[in-house]
Amino acid sequence: MTFHAPFDNSYARLPDRFFTRQGPTPVAAPSLIAFNADLARDLGIDTGGADAATLAALFSGNAIPEGAAPLAQVYGGHQFGNWNPQLGDGRALLLGEVKTGTQRFDIQLKGSGPTPYSRMGDGRAWLGPVLREYLMSEAMAALGVPTTRALAAVTTGEEVLRETGPLPGAVLTRVAASHIRVGTFQYFAARGDREALAALADHVITRHYPEADGPADLLRAVTEAQARLIAKWMSLGFIHGVMNTDNMAISGETIDYGPCAFMDIYHPGKVFSSIDRGGRYAYGNQPQIALWNLAQLASSLVPLMPDQDAAVEEFTTIINTFGDVYQAEWTRLFAAKLGLGPDADPDLAMRLLTWMAEEQRDFTTTFRALAEGEDIGAEDWRAEWHEQTPDLAIARVANPVVVPRLHLIEGVITAGVQGDFGPFHDLLARITAPFEDAPEAYRRPPQPEEEVTRTFCGT
Ligand code: AMP
Ligand code: MG
Repeated sequence: MTFHAPFDNSYARLPDRFFTRQGPTPVAAPSLIAFNADLARDLGIDTGGADAATLAALFSGNAIPEGAAPLAQVYGGHQFGNWNPQLGDGRALLLGEVKTGTQRFDIQLKGSGPTPYSRMGDGRAWLGPVLREYLMSEAMAALGVPTTRALAAVTTGEEVLRETGPLPGAVLTRVAASHIRVGTFQYFAARGDREALAALADHVITRHYPEADGPADLLRAVTEAQARLIAKWMSLGFIHGVMNTDNMAISGETIDYGPCAFMDIYHPGKVFSSIDRGGRYAYGNQPQIALWNLAQLASSLVPLMPDQDAAVEEFTTIINTFGDVYQAEWTRLFAAKLGLGPDADPDLAMRLLTWMAEEQRDFTTTFRALAEGEDIGAEDWRAEWHEQTPDLAIARVANPVVVPRLHLIEGVITAGVQGDFGPFHDLLARITAPFEDAPEAYRRPPQPEEEVTRTFCGT
């Protein structure tokens, strides 16, 4: 028996200028931290009884599975609003796509060595961001949020040099419906490559939105997917942290977990990213930034339309549906958090949030306490809420007990750097069953001395 994944690599069949074929750079001594066997099974992967050493070789890039066709994807993007005409997979490689039924999933190695898009970077990742992305993305999946997934994590047995000194190297294997970004469209639009744009739009429609008939329909579908996604983030207190157009997936999945966070104390202005000095990607700005990003996608699709002036008008109307879709989804999600039906007045949730900000209440525990029927204070508000006869059973499946808070992840990383992955596996078990009761240490907000106020775009 051997390892088998049902590869069928449609992106690799696009024109050459979409990517650079490139293999991973081998590492010294790969060692398996985690392998997501449930996800592998869902993807139609048969490990053939592979042992940890074989899996470590495969998911470090030291061995290439049969059927893979490794490549680095090229894209551009607006980073903090500034246009960058060429980015790309600088520390990642697409191994290929596995096909299960009609669905395709990218299998990508992150931290697998330099590519033509690495610029000044080493193409590597250190352990911290690998563990963070594993936990964050699996938590989001368990919470029902569209997201890339984590299939495996390995240490490389090599050190990578970062500002603070040498750190243990690691590789994350990531799974996504695709890694096609708003920035992928922008890259070809900026070069005036209409032929590539058309091929990309066709590829994306076939792959993600088969019911879409042309660029306008595609834009409508992406707008809706993004509006729903951002509403979900907001309902969980999730802050992406770096919503550049190259970090926004066309599939509507959460992608590129860098300086992201589930906030502790609620405040709409919360920012954790050390590089987001102006607060562009603050919690409360996320909907308007998503819309700004969609406007960039719309601009990139205009060249595909026969009448460009008419297209600008039509596309403007389409992306402006974002607000209604977002508001409806937000209202539905926050109503559920309060144990109410979708027709509940959103003002009730708004007023709770205002109170939470004033009183500096923890986002996750406050909502969970409501779901448990506990007293949170806010007597007048609670009286009004009770008049709506909430169903707490609904609230209990909408408000997680455990989310991977920054201080919990920090603890996992500190132990991991010392070679102890016990805390990683313990936290993983909790966050993948986020609505189940858990020990106090996983539920409570950080103590003042544990609080993490800044995250780094760890690479
Ligand atoms: P990200 O923070 O993942 O959105 O990355 C922004 C850009 O920097 C992408 O084009 C990455 O491929 C590139 N990049 C980030 N870290 C590295 C690294 N260690 N080596 C090479 N390129 C990198
Ligand atoms: Mg990125």
